[in-house]
Amino acid sequence: YSVKRGGRHGHQAYEPGLEIIANRQLHADLRHALERHQLHVVYQPQWNPPDGELTGYEALLRWEHPLYGPVPPAVFIPIAEQSGLIGIFGEFVLRAACTTAMQWPPGVRTTVNVSPLQLVENKLLAEVCAALTASGLPAGRLELEITESKPAVDSEGALITLHQLKKLGVRIALDDFGTGTASLDMMHRFSFDRMKIDSRFVAGLPEDTRGHAIVGSLISLAHKLGAQVTAEGVERMEQAFSLMELGCDEMQGYLFGHPDAQTSVL
Ligand code: C2E
Ligand code: CA
Ligand code: CA
Ligand code: CA
Repeated sequence: YSVKRGGRHGHQAYEPGLEIIANRQLHADLRHALERHQLHVVYQPQWNPPDGELTGYEALLRWEHPLYGPVPPAVFIPIAEQSGLIGIFGEFVLRAACTTAMQWPPGVRTTVNVSPLQLVENKLLAEVCAALTASGLPAGRLELEITESKPAVDSEGALITLHQLKKLGVRIALDDFGTGTASLDMMHRFSFDRMKIDSRFVAGLPEDTRGHAIVGSLISLAHKLGAQVTAEGVERMEQAFSLMELGCDEMQGYLFGHPDAQTSVL
C-alpha cells in the first residue's frame, strides 16, 4: 500500500522502504480495526432495469484508517486473509448485512462476499445460521458471493459447505465470472443461483465487439445452467442497453448507485 504523497496530480515518489513500513503498519493496525470501530459496511444497489426494480444490495466492507483515511478493500482484504482476520471480519459483515436487510422491503435481498478461506474453514454454515436467527431474516433473502478469482474454492470441503448452505435456502452466486481458472469446473460441479459478470467485460460495451461476444456467451451459458446473471461495473446508459439486449437479468454499478453514497454503521 503506497502512502499518498504530493496530491492527486503530483509526482508519487517511489519509496520502497516507506511502502514496506506502511504495509507493516497496516498489518498491525488491522488487528484492532474492529474493536476500534474503524470498520463499517456500505451497500450498493442491484437493479433489474427492464422492470425498473430494486432487487438487492451488495454489502461491501470499509476500513477508515485514523491516519491514512479509507483503505481500499483490494488492499486490506488480502491482509485480513493472510493474518487470519478474515473469519472475524466475514462474520461481522454477515451479521450487519442480515440485520440491515430487515429494514428493507421483503423482496429485496442482501448479498455478502465470502472469502474462499471462510469456505474451507467449517464455521461458515453455523455463522450463517446464527446471523439469520439473530436478525430474523429469511434464508431466501441472503445471497453469498464466492469469488472464482482466487484458488481454494473448488476443494471438497468448500463444495460440501456450499451444498449445505443451499439446502438451508441461502442463494449462492459466483463472483467475478469469467476471470478465474476454476470457473468451468466449479460450474460443472455446483449449481450456482447467480453468476456476476466481471466489470472488465462490461467496460467497453457496446463498441467492444470482443467484450460483447464474451458477455453474450457468458449470459447464455449461465442461463443454460439455470443461473441468473448480474453485470458489474455498469456506469453508462449504453452499457445498460447493450446488456439488456443480451438478456442480462440484473445490473450493478455507479449508473444505478454508488456504494459509498449510503452508509450504515453498525
Ligand atoms: P467485488 O465483490 O467485485 O465488488 C465490486 C467492486 O466494484 C466494489 O469495490 C465496488 O465498489 C466496485 N464498483 C461498483 N460499481 C462500480 C462501477 O460502476 N465502476 C467501478 N469502477 N467500480 C464499481 P470495493 O468496494 O472496492 O471492493 C473491492 C473488492 O473487495 C470486492 O470486489 C470484493 O472482492 C472485496 N470485498 C469487499 N468487501 C468485502 C467483504 O466484506 N468480504 C470479502 N471477503 N471481500 C470483500
Ligand atoms: Ca462481490
Ligand atoms: Ca465482483
Ligand atoms: Ca470485480
